[in-house]
Amino acid sequence: MDAATIVIGRLADGPTPPTAASATSPNMLHTRVAEVVASMGRPPWSRRIIADERQLVTLIASPPGGGNRPHWHREFDEWWVVLTGRLEWELTGGVVLRATKDEIVWVPRGTVHHIRNVGDDLSLRLAVAMPPAMHYFSACEQCGYTDDGPREWCA
Ligand SMILES: [Zn+2]
Repeated sequence: MDAATIVIGRLADGPTPPTAASATSPNMLHTRVAEVVASMGRPPWSRRIIADERQLVTLIASPPGGGNRPHWHREFDEWWVVLTGRLEWELTGGVVLRATKDEIVWVPRGTVHHIRNVGDDLSLRLAVAMPPAMHYFSACEQCGYTDDGPREWCA
């Protein structure tokens, strides 16, 4: 397989005030999670918090029973910080793990991840991926979840 490369289009020349920050997400200087939650309404929803050449950070809310479409990534490892709720990751190879507030989950490239809210309350997770963040659908080998949606997508 070919290697993937990235281009950093804008370089800093030296110490620089944070004028590149945005007034609205992504790339605000300061994001309060509670304010995002209050502005978004009923889950499911997601909000991009940080986006640049190397990282895509997304706040994702799932209602009880909700979750993602199982998929894998070709060129990056992905990780999450659970901010609230109780989430389950079903992974390729029979691995299942559950995580709750203040816990971090890391999944290497190539591993299918099917993430579901298995608690009784809203779940919030901060997802850290890398652009262009191509997703490749794969049915969950554990629970059998599948659908007729796109087989590849960029998010
Ligand atoms: Zn993913």
